[in-house]
Amino acid sequence: MKLLIFVAAVFALLWLLKRSLGGRAAPPSSRSAKPDAAAEPKQIIACAQCGMHLPRDEALPGRGGVFCGDAHRAAYEKAHPE
Ligand SMILES: [Zn+2]
Repeated sequence: MKLLIFVAAVFALLWLLKRSLGGRAAPPSSRSAKPDAAAEPKQIIACAQCGMHLPRDEALPGRGGVFCGDAHRAAYEKAHPE
C-alpha cells in the first residue's frame, strides 16, 4: 500500500513539474486569460447581389444594401434602377 501512495505522489509531482515548466503546448484553461479586445465577434453580413457572407467592415455600403465588392454594387444598382 505504501508503494502505491509513493507512485501516486511521484506521478503527481511529475505532473506538477511538467505543468509549471513546459505549459506552452497546453496552457491551463483560465477564465480571464483572453484580452477583451479579441473577444468581440465580427459582425457578418450578406452581399445583396450574390449573398456571400463577409465581415461588416469589409463590405461596401450601397443603394439597396451592402456588397462584397464594387462590381456587385454596380451590377445591383444597374439591375435595380430607382
Ligand atoms: Zn457579391
